[in-house]
Amino acid sequence: MLFGGGAFERELIHEGGALVSGISAPRGKQMLSLSAMRGYRKKAVVCKPGGDPSPESDHPGSLISDLPASLTAVQLTPRRWLNLQEYQSKKLMSDNGVKVQRFFVADTANEALEAAKKLNAKEIVLKAQILAGGRGKGVFSSGLKGGVHLTKDPKVVGQLAKQMIGYNLATKQTPKEGVKVNKVMVAEALDISRETYLAILMDRASNGPVLVGSPQGGVDIEEVAATNPELIFKEQIDIIEGIKDSQAQRMAENLGFLGPLKNQAADQIKKLYNLFLKIDATQVEVNPFGETPEGQVVCFDAKINFDDNAEFRQKDIFAMDDKSENEPIENEAARYDLKYIGLDGNIACFVNGAGLAMATCDIIFLNGGKPANFLDLGGGVKESQVYQAFKLLTADPKVEAILVNIFGGIVNCAIIANGITKACRELELKVPLVVRLEGTNVHEAQNILNNSGLPITSAVDLEDAAKKAVASVTKK
Ligand code: GDP
Ligand code: MN
Repeated sequence: MLFGGGAFERELIHEGGALVSGISAPRGKQMLSLSAMRGYRKKAVVCKPGGDPSPESDHPGSLISDLPASLTAVQLTPRRWLNLQEYQSKKLMSDNGVKVQRFFVADTANEALEAAKKLNAKEIVLKAQILAGGRGKGVFSSGLKGGVHLTKDPKVVGQLAKQMIGYNLATKQTPKEGVKVNKVMVAEALDISRETYLAILMDRASNGPVLVGSPQGGVDIEEVAATNPELIFKEQIDIIEGIKDSQAQRMAENLGFLGPLKNQAADQIKKLYNLFLKIDATQVEVNPFGETPEGQVVCFDAKINFDDNAEFRQKDIFAMDDKSENEPIENEAARYDLKYIGLDGNIACFVNGAGLAMATCDIIFLNGGKPANFLDLGGGVKESQVYQAFKLLTADPKVEAILVNIFGGIVNCAIIANGITKACRELELKVPLVVRLEGTNVHEAQNILNNSGLPITSAVDLEDAAKKAVASVTKK
């Protein structure tokens, strides 16, 4: 919807922006389940092409009112990719021959001051480190305006860092209250004579990587795509053959790099592409991909996302995962191999598998209720996980009922049933509990629940379960 289609639209699909693009496209529901295959993140972050995330409010989606089920989807932005902070991405880039500014990272104002002195630069740029973009125009809860500051005085770096670290930075891509800043980057500032945009994305349409660039960088690339689509250039890359010199050269030219800068830009583009492959990225975005008056091509900003499927062979990168921007409950859930997503309603959903999670949320909506959260148990289940799951779900004060919807394929329903009864007793469950189990060993599971003497409402199928759960909260 934001772009005319092609690579951009596909990328929206990749990025979980799918959920949004899916709403404006008739494929809404299909996208929803596709996008939800692995992992989710509740953040109101919907990645734009090239990945700068944008707030969902940017995407009102006129069809929302017709598609209550898909509305859920907008709220459930899936997290399918590891996202690193700028300083982490830039470290990877500089280690691989990509030109970035010299920098230090600091987590106190004093460290920032020391770093600024150590840099011994003509000018310094101080940048708050959060995963969202649009920092330049952001505002801190301390009152400070701007998440990116230029100064010549190291002392000012210290003063500004004091107003950044520990405060929330709100940008148009963060939730309203902003995101807490724990670290700042202190870098050598360079003059910028021209700002272009460059991204490398995994593109579904071309079944492989695509280079996306625009001579109009620095600004909101979506805006460029909307107003000047002719200024967006793409190069599909054959993943077997790799990037061709001619492609890198053509992109450099399209970005407006002239004379010797053209070769330099092409070289940077190739290095970025090689990095993209090497680290199993799904996206490398550089905005601005800039030019200095001294004739250098420099990556001034960096955003890299990684394919979670590659975790097994990218251990060092995944070890950098900064979970500090997660909600505490998400991290707590992750400790038990559970995936937690908070939502706005009052019915907690305890499910196994992404598809079932989506279906459960949808059917609650269709029956007039609203999910409070969902907790995905995944595949290999232990009784203790069920207990922890209940503990997490009931800790949420907005939960007025719990709906368990588990399909036992690999999962043995009896284990679930034992976990449920144990949790109910130990946690002295105060809210109505509706349970729908299906699949492996379901009869034994039913017996366990029925003989438990606990006030558990059984449901025969998903529809029945949703109706009973919704009824249990509306009765009150
Ligand atoms: P974003 O707002 O989160 O995308 O953060 P960026 O890293 O892109 O910084 C925002 C803007 O600050 C950039 O578009 C540049 O215009 C400017 N900026 C960042 N670093 C430098 C620098 O070293 N020198 C100059 N002159 N401007 C910079
Ligand atoms: Mn930027």
